[in-house]
Formats: sequence, C-alpha cells, structure tokens
Amino acid sequence: MPSQFSDPKLISTLAGQIKSSITRPWNIMEICGGQTHAIMRHGLDQLLPESINLIHGPGCPVCVTSLEAIETALLIARQPNVIFTSFGDMLRVPGSRQDLFSARANGADVRVVYSPMEAVKLAQANPNNQVVFFAIGFETTVPAIASSIQHAKRNNVRNFSILPANVLVPPAMRAILSNSENRVNAFLAAGHVCAVMGFWEYDSIASQYHCPIVVTGFEPVDLLTGILLAVRQLEAGRSEVENAYTRAVSREGNVVAQEMINTVFEPVDRQWRGIGSIPLSGLGLRQDFQEFDATRQFDLRLGNVSESSVCIAGQVLRGISKPFDCPAFARECTPASPLGAPMVSGEGACAAYYRYHKAEL
Ligand code: SF4
Repeated sequence: MPSQFSDPKLISTLAGQIKSSITRPWNIMEICGGQTHAIMRHGLDQLLPESINLIHGPGCPVCVTSLEAIETALLIARQPNVIFTSFGDMLRVPGSRQDLFSARANGADVRVVYSPMEAVKLAQANPNNQVVFFAIGFETTVPAIASSIQHAKRNNVRNFSILPANVLVPPAMRAILSNSENRVNAFLAAGHVCAVMGFWEYDSIASQYHCPIVVTGFEPVDLLTGILLAVRQLEAGRSEVENAYTRAVSREGNVVAQEMINTVFEPVDRQWRGIGSIPLSGLGLRQDFQEFDATRQFDLRLGNVSESSVCIAGQVLRGISKPFDCPAFARECTPASPLGAPMVSGEGACAAYYRYHKAEL
C-alpha cells in the first residue's frame, strides 16, 4: 500500500491543480540532486504541463567539489604513511588525469568510510599513519564532521585531519540568481539542508531577487506540493519563502547542530566545480581547530589542472543546459566511464537522465 506521500490519487489531484493554476511558462529549479533523482524515478516531470521547465540545480555534493580539491586529495593520498578516507562516490570523480580509485590501484592507501568518526577511529587504531578525511558535502554533512573534529581534539588524536571542501547552499542560490544567464524563476529548497539550517536565511534571497522559494521534501507528494506552491506564487507575482516540508523542517532548524558547525567552522570563499569561486560559500576551520586542516600539514604544490574539454557540467550545474544538451552524454560519457562528476554521483543530473530517460534519446 502506498504511503500518504506517494498516494496515486493525491499525486493526480496535485498534478491537476498545478495544470489549472498555470497560465504561462515558468522555470523552477530543484536545488538538490536527491530531488532530481526522485522526480525522474517517479516520472513526476511527465505529469507536469509543458509550460513548467524543471531545472536541475547544483545540489550534488560530489559534482560541485572543485577540481583543485580533487587534485589536492590525490596529492595527499599519494604521500607516504597517509590513509586517505572519503565517502564512496568521491573515489570515481575524475580529476585532471586520475581519480582516487586509480590512485588506490597505484598503491595509495585510499579507504571508503561511512562517517567522519570512522576516520577518527582509524587514526586511533593506526598511530603511525596520518588519517585524512575528505570533508565534502552541504550543510547536512557538516555537523558530523564538526563533531568528529571536536572528538579528536578532546581525545588528543593528532594524526587525524580533514581536507576542507564543504559548501553552503544560500551563497550558491545568490550566485545563480545574479548570473546574467540566469533562467530560474523559483527554487525548491532542499528539505534536508533546511532541517539542519532552517530557512530564515532565505527571506533576503526571495525578496532581493523577487524569487519564490519553497522548502520541499523528497516524496512525490512533497515535490508536487512544492511545485504547486511555487507556481501559485509566480502566477500571483509573490516572492516569499514557504515551507512545504513542515514534518521535518522548522524556520529555525536544528539550533544545536548550527552551534556545533559555528564552533568549529567559519565561512570562506570556495571554488565550485564548473561554476567558479563563490564568496563565503564554503566552510574553513576556525583558528582553534586549524591543527586539523590537512592542507597545513603537507607540502602541496598543485600543477596545472584542467577540465575535460567536452564536459559541460558547469552549465548543467547552473541550470543553463540539460544533460541531453551534452554531446558526450551516453556516448563517451556513461556511468561506467564518466567524463564528469554529474555522471558519477548517485545525485548527479547526468546520472539521473542516463538511468531514467536514456531511452528517449
Ligand atoms: S554527460 Fe558527462 S560529459 Fe556531459 S555534462 Fe554530464 S558528466 Fe559532463
């Protein structure tokens, strides 16, 4: 029996309400790659009127991790006595010439972990090695990373450090809306990020850019409700922040988790893959915790880094192009042989199109 959040009758009612509310074309961006995959998996894009163009946003943590960060990870992983740890998806993301998988095949000690605390425990069990954790992801992953660093400091684990590469959603939304090529009329904000951070940060974005923002979950009914609320705002000329995911998200968010993040990290400028540098869009370690910054512990000199000349991931991540627009899609670039991160990650838009829409090519 379907849950109330995937009830076919409710889905059909919501699709009908969207259709009857819309009078002209609108571009709506779902920020989160998990939402992109849910939309494709449930065929929700097929239920919508053609005048709604769903644009897929940069909310795939693996996809937006910069080439420089990946090259730095490869440099660290190749150092003697280093155990380099990472979430699994990151191992197959191509750098300039190599990925972490190939580095492992060539002798580097690269290991998949499921949490940063696992990396701390690995450091405690291997006191003669430096254990480095690749700290990627959005606000959702940061509390666990902050907690692991506090744990390492309390327990004097000196052979643990992180490669800081976390990114923040609101500065990316501003960068998209400020871009001269922007096509986004409304955002579906990622429910799990808002569960941690709340949505109070979005008020100024909605009003400054006249852009409705609807906090949205991941089930079919959540997603269609988010789209319906966004369409109603757009049609009425409103630009407000609305919460369509009240069962998980409050305006303030998880205040304890936010305090933990703010104790350990501070905002820094960060490079996004395919997008470039966005001011104050990343998190760096505060002064009191910089002993856990791997970039301060190794002699790291990056050579020239260069992207694949055919991959248009930057345009896909900014919502300017769709995966089908890429000449390499499903030809040179497939999940088995990816040229760019959006084809690797379980949250990447190219992987979603390959899995659910390849037959339409
Ligand atoms: S299909 Fe592959 S090459 Fe094209 S944009 Fe996506 S990841 Fe890049």
